[in-house]
Amino acid sequence: MDVCVIGTGYVGLVTGTCLAYLGRSVICVDIDERKIEMLSQGRSPIYEPGLQGLIASGLQRGHLRFSNSLTEGVRQSEIIFIAVGTPPQPTGRADLSAVEAVAQGIGRALDSDRRRVIVNKSTVPIGSGNWVEMLVKDGLGENPTLRREAAGTAQVEGHSVVTGVRSLTDIRPEELFAVASNPEFLREGSAVHDTLYPDRIVIGAADARAVERLRALYEPIIEQTFTPPASAPRPAASTAVPVVTTDLTSAEMIKYAANAFLATKISFANEIANICERVGADIKEVVRGFGLDNRIGPRFLNAGVGWGGSCFGKDVAALIDIAREYSYEPSLLRSIVDVNARQRQVVVQKLQETLKIIKGRTIGLLGLAFKPDTDDLRDAPALEIATQLTAMGARVKVYDPVAMPACRAQHPELKFEYAADPIALAAECDALVVVTEWEEFRQLDFERVGAVMNTRVLIDGRNMLDREAVEAGGFKYRGIGR
Ligand code: NAD
Repeated sequence: MDVCVIGTGYVGLVTGTCLAYLGRSVICVDIDERKIEMLSQGRSPIYEPGLQGLIASGLQRGHLRFSNSLTEGVRQSEIIFIAVGTPPQPTGRADLSAVEAVAQGIGRALDSDRRRVIVNKSTVPIGSGNWVEMLVKDGLGENPTLRREAAGTAQVEGHSVVTGVRSLTDIRPEELFAVASNPEFLREGSAVHDTLYPDRIVIGAADARAVERLRALYEPIIEQTFTPPASAPRPAASTAVPVVTTDLTSAEMIKYAANAFLATKISFANEIANICERVGADIKEVVRGFGLDNRIGPRFLNAGVGWGGSCFGKDVAALIDIAREYSYEPSLLRSIVDVNARQRQVVVQKLQETLKIIKGRTIGLLGLAFKPDTDDLRDAPALEIATQLTAMGARVKVYDPVAMPACRAQHPELKFEYAADPIALAAECDALVVVTEWEEFRQLDFERVGAVMNTRVLIDGRNMLDREAVEAGGFKYRGIGR
């Protein structure tokens, strides 16, 4: 089955690479020439566990190719995924300019060789499926191949030959393509695993043939019949993957509802943590107690510096915008955003409470990425905390095992010092703040870390460390909600 994935970011690249691993013939397209050049040489432009090896093997086996040409990708494929970015605008509304350009481009590039399924994998506002269909049709009007067919000619070996007269209006768009929605739920940091072993696959379409083709595409995942790659072993209890087939609008809404709910769980835990701290309870104990209720579940209830990343903030803001467009004021959604914004201030307040004066202090941040196992810095709490501390007159040092090169390249305006390792970070610091839950921070020797610091203060912004081990290193330890 021939597949084109347009957009080689965290979603498109992982999707394309995993489908190639399953034996599909995949061409990944991007407008970013540097990315395509790197990828064609087998180098991943992003950090994602297990991805690099799968790209290399996909290229080697000839199942995976990369191109800057949308036309090449569209012509060679039956299933065409749109996986470009949909970043937030200042109003919260999703910026759909990349989706628009791609949809029109697909319309201009289609030919009548086979029927295509055009799949929205980008997270897009409700109604975007219909809008994409309209844009593809617009593109068809400017499609040189179809125009030639309509004029009764075709290009054969560089010559125009008569193929029989057919009017452009004879070409029925529904014979050429159908649009489907197939929202993505992967988590950065475990994107390959989540693609191969998803909790569910959602397919939204009005066209039964499109649903059938997507089911066939995902069959090895649905039935779990593939041999797992060494880098992503199959979880012990995995069974057939549920497929939710529904209408386009509901599929689009499922994605927003899922992210809004996950963001709600974290904001809820943070709200409870802030109350715990005031009344003398420990949020970790409290979550353990109420999370064991099957109706609630313990996952996604970690109190800390709040959620970040490219999805939660953007998707909740877009959902608020959609609700308002339909004259509904989503007060719960607004609150989860407000709680999260306030939560990012909590570590700064704890530093003020502990050190009193921030001006002239040296603060070390453990972690930059918005979560562990990724180099993604979009809406990363660390960047906001660092910017705020710098503005307050502190000297900020940072260490992250993976995200420092990305941070240097993407944020030359940020004036902090990069440290080569946690000990270099701690040197001359008045306090350390854990911002990202990297596993290696759990293994730190706090006696050694503390020995090079000015004062032994540690703010655990993720509640991830063993308090006793930190305190045994002579530290004053402050967690969140404890
Ligand atoms: P990204 O920014 O990492 O990648 C987008 C890619 O699209 C870039 O490589 C960019 O160069 C390319 N692009 C932009 N315009 C293009 C065009 N006209 N033609 C070809 N390529 C073009 O984005 P991402 O994180 O992969 O997210 C993609 C979509 O998936 C978004 O809508 C996002 O909300 C959604 N999503 C993301 C995640 C995640 O964890 N990152 C999870 C689920 C869903």
